[in-house]
Amino acid sequence: MTEHTQITTPESLSEDVQAEPSLRPTRLAEFIGQEKVREALSIAIEAARFRKEPLDHVLFHGPPGLGKTTLASLLAREMGVNIKTTSGPVLEKAADLVGILTNQREGDILFIDEIHRLRPIIEEFLYPAMEDWQVDIRLSDGPKAQTMTMKIERFTLVGATTRFGSLTAPMRARFGIVQRMNYYPPEELVTIVQRSAEILGVDATKEGATEIARRSRGTPRVANRLLRRVRDYAQVRADGHIDEAVAQAALKLLDVDEYGLDEMDGQVLKTLIEKFEGGPVGLNSLAVAMGEDATTLEEVYEPFLIMEGFLQRTPQGRVATPRAFRHFGYTIPEPGAQGDDQGSLFTQDG
Ligand code: ADP
Repeated sequence: MTEHTQITTPESLSEDVQAEPSLRPTRLAEFIGQEKVREALSIAIEAARFRKEPLDHVLFHGPPGLGKTTLASLLAREMGVNIKTTSGPVLEKAADLVGILTNQREGDILFIDEIHRLRPIIEEFLYPAMEDWQVDIRLSDGPKAQTMTMKIERFTLVGATTRFGSLTAPMRARFGIVQRMNYYPPEELVTIVQRSAEILGVDATKEGATEIARRSRGTPRVANRLLRRVRDYAQVRADGHIDEAVAQAALKLLDVDEYGLDEMDGQVLKTLIEKFEGGPVGLNSLAVAMGEDATTLEEVYEPFLIMEGFLQRTPQGRVATPRAFRHFGYTIPEPGAQGDDQGSLFTQDG
């Protein structure tokens, strides 16, 4: 049967991940949304099974909590193979992988989360494993170290990253299937909340589920977390039943942002407004002002803020929209105050 090894990154030790496995879909057909990704995977699975070959190496990229790890497990399940899970930052030396790779059976999956954080030495070690099904094992240390080449079974590497841009080009090139995960539209999140509520054995109306979904930042992990907190509230303060009013009251008590913005979203927009008068400002200047990495800002935070109309990318740089000003209670600048080109941005709603 499918075998899992533990992920040992600190992130995975949070309350959510420990409590969530039961909410993870166990079949690809149960996985809600990401239609394009699911279809591409179904085709790849069917073709690989037909040819009786391992699945091509797969890379999932996109913001956290959208289902990359879940899909990796589903691939193993659908292919009927074992999966071993690890993550970029915990792999220190090639030897950490030798045991796993030499013990894998044909078609087994090695899942590497945060694959953009692999050390170069591990990447170099993985290339021949991924391409020629062989690993070079160092028999001793030092400049004259002897190495031995060992054949391994053909396996599938599944990688996940929140920062596609930080992955090295040679690594990227070795994945046959590359899929981007996107934030979930509200209808899909409602379905996810309803499904999770059913698993947790809590009664939620469509309106109650919608209220939770709306504030979940397009992210199933957030939706599941909020659902659990709302369930607590419902059990203590209501009769255990989640309707619109109960969901609203619980989320208010939890101080959940009306649009699902998280702390980091707030920081991006406030920095943009307070330090740069709403922009336009270049990505790098914004990143430096926040003490954040530009790629993370661009790939993890901006897409959601842009989708929700809080931020715009213009040729001159990033701009906070009137919606962002209003949401945080700032006065929207007078037209023209932001420089000639951008003035018009602040007239329509102001
Ligand atoms: P990632 O690896 O992208 O950070 P995960 O695969 O860990 O995300 O997903 C986070 C949680 O969200 C999972 O435990 C799972 O319960 C839930 N989840 C993610 N995507 C879906 C989906 N499409 N349908 C149902 N639940 C989902």
